[in-house]
Amino acid sequence: METIIFATKNKGKIREINAILADMDWQVVSMEEAGITVDVIEDGTTFEENALKKATQIMQISGKITMADDSGLEIDYLDKAPGVYSARFMGEDTPYAQKCSAILEKMQGVAQDARTARFVSCIATVFPSGKKRISYDTVEGIIGWEMKGENGFGYDPIFYVPDKQKYMAELSAEEKNAISHRGKALRKMKEMLKKEL
Ligand code: IMP
Repeated sequence: METIIFATKNKGKIREINAILADMDWQVVSMEEAGITVDVIEDGTTFEENALKKATQIMQISGKITMADDSGLEIDYLDKAPGVYSARFMGEDTPYAQKCSAILEKMQGVAQDARTARFVSCIATVFPSGKKRISYDTVEGIIGWEMKGENGFGYDPIFYVPDKQKYMAELSAEEKNAISHRGKALRKMKEMLKKEL
């Protein structure tokens, strides 16, 4: 069985990824499970740069196939902020309830048409041979008017999904995986890896 390391410390992401890759004959382990504790500095200016940097560094340490994702929320009205800085917006340790409420404040009085936003996910897989695979996808929505829902993580409580008429944090894990940026990018990556492994 092939072991793949998923280079994240985010437990929310690991849960989503395991659900999507559960049917494959691959053992996907987190950095923690692989005993890797290094912090990769995410100083790239694009999602792809950061995903590739994380996957490359962890592959070099582990010697194993490594997958990493970089993701974030782009809000059109805020010139695509927080974007690649989504995790660091207002400081890495600031609770998301505070980050979400600051965004709602910035969006106060903004008409529905101008509240468009998307979650973006770029996934990179780097092999010990140096071979690389990249997948990218998004989910479109709008910034809502309140925080709603208890599921998911991060900015899910303020991200309204018009197709579902619900906030992302109101969707079950299965519903979110079916439509989410990471779900879609990961399914694309799964197809690419099926050809390699
Ligand atoms: P990363 O871990 O460096 O990729 O940072 C991604 C950040 O983007 C997260 O910490 C969240 O702030 C935000 N983000 C990415 N995906 C999601 C999602 O599915 N829901 C809510 N927030 C997300």
